[in-house]
Amino acid sequence: MRLEEMKKEIEKLVVEKGFYNKPEDIPKKLLFAFIELGEASDAWKKGEPEEKIAEELVDVIFYVLDASRLACPSINMDATFRKKLEKNLSRPYQYGEGHRNNKQHA
Ligand SMILES: [Mg+2]
Repeated sequence: MRLEEMKKEIEKLVVEKGFYNKPEDIPKKLLFAFIELGEASDAWKKGEPEEKIAEELVDVIFYVLDASRLACPSINMDATFRKKLEKNLSRPYQYGEGHRNNKQHA
């Protein structure tokens, strides 16, 4: 299933279950995505089964795509994903992680 298809499925769920569904709800959805990241981290730290960790990570995807549906409705997330992947692939080795090469101060 592609991201755009997932957005449509998530919208169906949101409408059917009466969840927040207005642009002013975007900050809440992004906060919920953070909460789900915390749940994924907690599950991993507790040594829970991979299925549990995966479920929490899918919850993150749900909220991120749901937020994108309201925050940038004219944007195709599949195209954006491909474009961003190409951009990141064109960057140098370990880009953005220059701190790993820093020498310790004497
Ligand atoms: Mg969860």
